[in-house]
Amino acid sequence: MSGPLRTEDADLEPRADAPATPELEITPAREARVGSHRVRRALPRRSRRTVGAWCFLDHMGPATVTEPDGVGIGTHPHIGLQTVTWLLAGELLHRDTLGSEQPIRPGQLNLMTAGHGVAHAEEATPYRGTFQGVQLWVAQPEATRHDAPAFEHHAAIPRVELPRGIATVLVGELAGTHSPARRDTDHIGVDLDLWAGVSTIPLRPDHEHAVVVLDGTVTVAGETVAPGSLAYLGLGRDELDLEASDPVRALLVGGAPFESPVVMWSNFVGRTRDEMVAATDGWNTGADRFGEVDSRLDRIPAPSPPWTA
Ligand code: MN
Repeated sequence: MSGPLRTEDADLEPRADAPATPELEITPAREARVGSHRVRRALPRRSRRTVGAWCFLDHMGPATVTEPDGVGIGTHPHIGLQTVTWLLAGELLHRDTLGSEQPIRPGQLNLMTAGHGVAHAEEATPYRGTFQGVQLWVAQPEATRHDAPAFEHHAAIPRVELPRGIATVLVGELAGTHSPARRDTDHIGVDLDLWAGVSTIPLRPDHEHAVVVLDGTVTVAGETVAPGSLAYLGLGRDELDLEASDPVRALLVGGAPFESPVVMWSNFVGRTRDEMVAATDGWNTGADRFGEVDSRLDRIPAPSPPWTA
C-alpha cells in the first residue's frame, strides 16, 4: 500500500530532518535582505527545511521607520503556502489580488493562503517609529495546495495566561485554547511573552517543535538560545521548560511532521522543480493565475531558479 507519510511511519523510516526522539539542535539565523531592510531568517536552514508544516520564518527588525516606504515590499507572487504575519511593533498595509486592503497592527494576525497562485504587496503606512514583526510560511498539503487563494484578518487572537507570562495562540491549539485562523494541517504557532523565571509550556509529543527567540535569551536544557537562533526540539516532548533571567519574547512553532518533502524557490512552495519554473515563468509573463494587485509599489520580478541557468 502506498500513500502519504503517516505519523506512525516516522519511527520506522524517520526523515533525515525529523528525528523521532527529543533532541536539541541550535542553528544560527542567516541574515537576509527583503526589499530595503535586513531580516533574520531562522527557517529554512540547510539542515532544517520544515518544522511541522512551517517552512519559513523571518524576523524583521526591530528597526526605526523614519522614511516613507521604509518597510514596504512591492507586489510579488506566492504558490502552495500560507503567509502568517504578526507584528510586535509598527504597521503594514496588506493588498492582494483578491482585492483585500487590510492594515495590520500588533496583536492582529494576517493569514493569506496562496493555493494555486496569489500576489500581494505589503505597503508602509504613515506610521513612524519602531517596527518589528515576523512573517512565517506554512507549506500547504496536497489536499489544498492547488485550490483558489484566500485571505483572513483576525483583529484579536486568543491568549493563554501562563504562571510566568502570556502565550498568544496564533495558529492551532495550546492548553485548550484555539486560534480562529485557518489551518490545513495539524500545526501550531504561539507567541511567548515570558517573564524572568522558568516557564513550562505544554507540548504534544506527536508534534515536532522549535523555538525562535525574538528578544532576550532563554535557556533550554542548559543551552542558551540567542535571538534569531532556531532551537529545534524534535518529537516526543510533552512539555518544555524555558528559563529566562530577564523578560523574553519568543515564538514556538510545531506540528505533525509534514506529509512530504517540499521544494522551495523564491516565494514558491511545491513538490517539484518544474512547478518552481512554471510559477517563475508565469509571474514574469503576467499569467492569469496570479492576478493584479492595486498597489503603488513596483511589481518585483521572480528570479530564475539557479538550476535553469
Ligand atoms: Mn509575500
